[in-house]
Amino acid sequence: MAVNFQQLPHSGIRSLIPYKPGKSIEELAREKGIKSNDIIKMASNENPLGCSPLALAELKNISPHLLATYPSPINHPLMSKLANKLKIDAEQLFLSNGSDYIYTILLNCFVLHQDKHIITHEYAFSTYAIQAQTLNIPVHTVADNPNWQVNIDSLIRACNLKTGIIFLANPNNPTGILINPKEIKRLLENIPESTLLVIDEAYYEYAATQLNCNSIDWLAEHPNLVITRTFSKIYGLAGIRLGYAISHPSIIELMRRIQLPFMVNQVALTTAHAALEDEEFIQQSLQLNSEGMRQIQAGFTELNLPYLPSACNFLTFDCKQDGISLYNYLLDRGIIVRPLHPYKMNNYLRVTVGTKEQNNRFLDELSNYYK
Ligand SMILES: *Cc1c(COP(=O)(O)O)cnc(C)c1O
Repeated sequence: MAVNFQQLPHSGIRSLIPYKPGKSIEELAREKGIKSNDIIKMASNENPLGCSPLALAELKNISPHLLATYPSPINHPLMSKLANKLKIDAEQLFLSNGSDYIYTILLNCFVLHQDKHIITHEYAFSTYAIQAQTLNIPVHTVADNPNWQVNIDSLIRACNLKTGIIFLANPNNPTGILINPKEIKRLLENIPESTLLVIDEAYYEYAATQLNCNSIDWLAEHPNLVITRTFSKIYGLAGIRLGYAISHPSIIELMRRIQLPFMVNQVALTTAHAALEDEEFIQQSLQLNSEGMRQIQAGFTELNLPYLPSACNFLTFDCKQDGISLYNYLLDRGIIVRPLHPYKMNNYLRVTVGTKEQNNRFLDELSNYYK
């Protein structure tokens, strides 16, 4: 081979360490020869109840015509239904193929080719930095507090007129930790109006009761705010890839300008539209999650394993040794959790809250390991 293709991309891509998703059930089944039905995945914060039965019924009813035609997300009834639910105008709403793709759109719009950088923090969700690096955009990372809390003062200090976007997840993944909304408000009040603050609220529905406020209310005063949410987590629809951004109409208009026309598909639109009606499923999911959260926390306490306070549907716990050995032990027994080495949290594993039976199986194997 005369050309080394590895050397062709820019330095951002050459040095990129791609996002490593949680191992899939199929992958583990193949690797270990375990039957798929005997494997439980507690690695990617998906809903253990699956998805809303209403959404599933609608999906089964999809017509050949719908599948044969290009989608028109902006004209789909999901737009107005979701906007009504959020109490915003449809002009403030942007649908996307997963909320993760929204970050690339925002980077393209507001940072790329402008001698600007982004800011994120030490234990922030890694996708923001990965997507920026893919575009060769400089990433400034501020240290978190020793209690894993985001240091808002450090963010304010790091921010200047060349800061295109600050990325925060609230609550954060992989820690599960909630940022006090007052602190986010203070951040908004102390950054340039030309710097976008993106708050990734993938776990909003799980955290809503603890949050006690709605970031959408800040939009009127702070048009540089972008909020992202998703159907992947509590709605149990990670497979259809649908997320959305809420912001000022002028920001949304720019995002629509550069979006590929058919990025959100018919199946996603149809299914999400039905899922929005199923409040019962959401309430069931919340209930299952808070019960499972207590169950797993009690198990950790019994085993003397410290865990981080989580406002999400997962718990990040301290294995008191490198987590890989326990991770592999659980894999051998058909339980997939998530190692946090990409975050340099080598002694920690992240486990998604499952059904009562799944949590029991996880806790049983955990106590066997520590025996
Ligand atoms: C799961 C998750 C998302 C959701 O991404 P989608 O692309 O909408 O599936 C976004 N941010 C964080 C922090 C997450 O954990």
